[in-house]
Amino acid sequence: MAGRSLLDKVWDAHSVRELPGGQTQLFIGLHLIHEVTSPQAFAMLREMGLPVRFPERTVATVDHIIPTHDQKRPLADALAEQMMAALEKNTEQAGIRFYGTSSGKQGIVHVIGPELGLTQPGMTIACGDSHTSTHGAFGAVAFGIGTSQVRDVLATQCLTLARPRVRRIDVTGKLAAGVFAKDVILAIIRRLGVKGGVGYAYEYAGPVLEAMSMEERLTVCNMSIEGGARCGYANPDDTTFEYLRGREFVPAGDSWGRAVAWWRQQASDADARYDDRVELPGAEIAPSVTWGINPGQNIGVDEKLPRIADAADADRASLEEAYGYMGLEPGQSIAGTPIDVAFIGSCTNGRISDLREAARVARSGRVAPGVRTLVVPGSQAVARQAEQEGLPEVFRAAGFDWREAGCSMCLAMNPDKLVGREICASSSNRNFKGRQGSPTGRTLLMSPAMVAAAAIRGEVTDVRELL
Ligand code: SF4
Repeated sequence: MAGRSLLDKVWDAHSVRELPGGQTQLFIGLHLIHEVTSPQAFAMLREMGLPVRFPERTVATVDHIIPTHDQKRPLADALAEQMMAALEKNTEQAGIRFYGTSSGKQGIVHVIGPELGLTQPGMTIACGDSHTSTHGAFGAVAFGIGTSQVRDVLATQCLTLARPRVRRIDVTGKLAAGVFAKDVILAIIRRLGVKGGVGYAYEYAGPVLEAMSMEERLTVCNMSIEGGARCGYANPDDTTFEYLRGREFVPAGDSWGRAVAWWRQQASDADARYDDRVELPGAEIAPSVTWGINPGQNIGVDEKLPRIADAADADRASLEEAYGYMGLEPGQSIAGTPIDVAFIGSCTNGRISDLREAARVARSGRVAPGVRTLVVPGSQAVARQAEQEGLPEVFRAAGFDWREAGCSMCLAMNPDKLVGREICASSSNRNFKGRQGSPTGRTLLMSPAMVAAAAIRGEVTDVRELL
């Protein structure tokens, strides 16, 4: 009999029962909540007269609406203040742990989960946010859910879900200098398409993944959803355990050894059966940039934009729409495209290693005249670490604007927004139309180092020229 994948092991361990329609009632080990998708869920619970079933398995923070330049209460935006107050009240009434701005532990929900050690191998994790797949980096099965499912998890700690198929993606060989985890996931999505993962869990593996730090794996898993996958994960290994050791919510003392032994068993068996397998040579991946209106529309920085005539029939309409929106020309180089704004941050690339890489580039020059910049740590802990390392001074000396922790201009549900047709070099994860706060704003996704390079040159630049 073939071995089992991590997905199968974790799924089976959390299955309460199989439902008549073939779906699973799945127990959720950790429920992360934030201010945007939880207020209606709590209201529905109140209407039904139901308590929160497992408050100790629920953790809250504030990230989307929080301003990054002035977090004094009451918040200047009345709606943001209302959402913040609702989360404070709901968590207090239900006895749920809440990390607000005065806690010193606030940050983007997908940044604080791992850094507090809440995210652990073998868990099921749900959150009312698309990028919950991030937590899969630890060998957890983690997915984003909608508001009515947030209600269901609050009330029952369970979800009704179909078991996804598993596609193993091996990234082989080694990455070249100047190529980062962001480039790896952009290359995967380019190859498999933004809908290629529908119905699948992505298992990332191979020498490139195994050599990655936990923060790099978080970046890869974060964008699983952009490839259409229900979730994405890496198998837990010594890198995982070393990252977790000593973190606040991680078992310690005698329990540590038992936890590691159990976590190790959750990894996919060497002879695990997969529904599909894909291989990608790491050496072929270049620093990548999106040019269109979905993350699959990306190319290496040294390539030219695709010609519509060369595209498959099924892709032509989406290419035409992308060119129409972005104002770019087929066949032109992406390098040299002028930018107006540079945003370094988000749950994809707002961790300390991201800021270090961006700072390394920032040391090579000054922000080009007319470019607006935001450097936003993913959490208060990331900000503190950056301060200890003197990174804010590096950024400020180069003319970058250093901010406080939050989602900032990733989704722009706060004062950080694009204006008009501005083009933003962004280390975030979505380049959809209007994503960054202006209905006509344009987003070019790339690694934090590439964003820093674009800020300094004032145009899309191959970061390898500056490193
Ligand atoms: S950083 Fe962006 S993608 Fe991540 S949780 Fe915040 S808004 Fe969502």
